[in-house]
Amino acid sequence: MESKFYEDAIDYWAQVPATLEGVLGGFEFISDDDVKGSSSFLEELFCCKNSSPPERNIALDCGAGIGRVTKFLLTKYFDKVDLVEQNQQFLEKAHHFIDNPDKIGTMYASGLQNFKPDKKYDVIWNQWVLGHLKDADLIEYFITCGNSLNPNGLIIVKENVTSSNKLEKDEVDSSVTRPMKHLLRIFKKAKLKIVKELKQEDFPKGIYPVHMFALRPNI
Ligand code: SAH
Repeated sequence: MESKFYEDAIDYWAQVPATLEGVLGGFEFISDDDVKGSSSFLEELFCCKNSSPPERNIALDCGAGIGRVTKFLLTKYFDKVDLVEQNQQFLEKAHHFIDNPDKIGTMYASGLQNFKPDKKYDVIWNQWVLGHLKDADLIEYFITCGNSLNPNGLIIVKENVTSSNKLEKDEVDSSVTRPMKHLLRIFKKAKLKIVKELKQEDFPKGIYPVHMFALRPNI
């Protein structure tokens, strides 16, 4: 039995339409700029100047929704993409929404707090979902992700960060938005080091700042 925090999030997403507008909370117009920002971030990580770029064989899209990140970003860079998403309707939509099905591997219907990958990935992409995990579960999840990377693999985190320096709770979708300090503390506890960090540009004013992090186990 999941706790109320997780149950409420399941209930919230169950009544959200399986559309771009739905998964982006009415902000579907930021998707193009979002993908542009993510592409340049990824390309810098792949670049020869980077000391140990990841391979481009297989990526995992976590909290994938209807497969927006998979369709517009990950399938452009990787041979195969697996998805994990707890909402079954979103996963069903993803089958139609993603237009190059040959690139799609396995779709896992699971909450990230319970997910144990059965293979290794070059990139594990987490976007606009980690606020749905409790701190202790997020630390465990990051450790699991760190153990599920191929050599030179990277965990990517692209999340809202509060500008208030305080943890902000959203009772409607049952999530939290963490301040930067809080997020950095969680990375540290999960023994992840930051390889690269960048703030997303060209987003409208009045929404949370969005930061991208490339992380690897600190060994
Ligand atoms: N990352 C996608 C979707 C963002 S919407 C994108 O950027 O387009 C947030 C998604 O997280 C929803 O699809 C929701 O069902 C999913 N989600 C919420 N809590 C989750 C959890 N605990 N585990 C896995 N997915 C979760």
